[in-house]
Amino acid sequence: MNYFLGIDFGTSGVRAIAINASNEIDVISRAEYDIRDCETWQLALYEVITSLPQKIRQNTKKIVVDGTSSTVLICDRTGKAIAAPLIYSDTCESEVLEQVKKIAPAKHSVCSATSSFAKLISFLARAEIQDSFTSQVRSLYFLHQADWLGYLLHGKLGVSDYHNALKLGYDPQLLQYPDWLQSWLLNNPAVVLPEVFAPSKTVGMVNKTIALKLNLPLDCAIGAGTTDSNAAFLSSVGTATPAIGTAVTSLGSTMVLKVLSDRPINEPSYGIYSHRFEHRELGCLWLVGGASNVGGAVLRQFFTDSELQEFSDRIDPHIASSLDYYPLTKIGDRFPINDPHLAPRLEPRPDDPVEFLHGLLESMARIEAKGYQILQKLGASPIQRIYTAGGGAKNTLWIKIRDRHLQISMQQSQQTEAAYGAALYAASRTYNPNPNK
Ligand code: ADP
Repeated sequence: MNYFLGIDFGTSGVRAIAINASNEIDVISRAEYDIRDCETWQLALYEVITSLPQKIRQNTKKIVVDGTSSTVLICDRTGKAIAAPLIYSDTCESEVLEQVKKIAPAKHSVCSATSSFAKLISFLARAEIQDSFTSQVRSLYFLHQADWLGYLLHGKLGVSDYHNALKLGYDPQLLQYPDWLQSWLLNNPAVVLPEVFAPSKTVGMVNKTIALKLNLPLDCAIGAGTTDSNAAFLSSVGTATPAIGTAVTSLGSTMVLKVLSDRPINEPSYGIYSHRFEHRELGCLWLVGGASNVGGAVLRQFFTDSELQEFSDRIDPHIASSLDYYPLTKIGDRFPINDPHLAPRLEPRPDDPVEFLHGLLESMARIEAKGYQILQKLGASPIQRIYTAGGGAKNTLWIKIRDRHLQISMQQSQQTEAAYGAALYAASRTYNPNPNK
């Protein structure tokens, strides 16, 4: 039996899932790690692999690793991190952002305080990086979390994928770094940006020493990585080849919508961007996404999880609440309303907590439906089916309210672990129009 291994480095831990050739899960292993400490990344990577049964390790054909998007590090030519990584939620200083805005075109998605490119500029401004460069380091390899973990397995330094590289400024339509970034590189010759592959495209076979250490076969291929949210999309839909119009709402602390479309949509002002998503049978598709700040975090301000369940059971989902809220934890949203000054609207507040909760759930269902309408208006493919994931998806009453607004019957996610999506990637033969990428 052949196995395919997906390894997810998420915000809250590491998971490995081995699937067989029928995409069935055989085993899951878990490890903890400290996202701020690369040494723990390495230990957790080895731990989730070595805790799999021998039989599975010895028959693993391919491994794909996903990492948190925009968690980045800078290494010397031996792959050693020169400084602690900057993680997905870190924001760069305002002077750095001003510098980024001078390099990138106006309104480019890298002009955000959390983009990977802003983090690269932030690294370069640090005295410790400059000192190490002038003393012994000649080349500075800039890598994403999944790139570095892949390197630990295949040993080729300086390889990424076009999911992780999007926030660095890589152009997934032209499959190249854009002109402005290439010009910047000419003036910064010490910086080595990764060569970009299609996610899961084989980068090489597992490094021999690592294969012996982890008891993997020498012909185990290591694929280019992906991001945790793109892996989670595949987990939700349960296949590496979803149809055009498949959508997923992740309703956790915030609400993120993604639709698989036949064309990309990029509207930085709305926070809408598109990941290239190559499909074996349908060719090149686009995973169009928008994220709202509304979501479960607001519910947590008013209710415990057990109150949420108890009060939800007393709501009739077929009757619409007339309360019209915009439930935010703080000022500002980008999608579906793009207004940094948008104030949370949580009034009028009825005395009855059940009525109040009904208003909140109804309002967020309206906002979700509006989000999908906007994505469609901007050109996303018509939605054929919607899966829902995240803590909010546990609430079946809420799903009935959301069905009423979306006029489509939502489905529970097939799998909630992103590692399953990475394993599906490992098992799939991705379509690739350009064999050199
Ligand atoms: P994240 O990973 O984004 O922090 P999760 O996917 O773990 O979030 O989901 C947590 C959220 O789910 C919380 O904000 C909580 O309010 C919400 N949640 C938990 N239980 C319920 C429920 N029964 N109904 C609605 N929302 C819920």
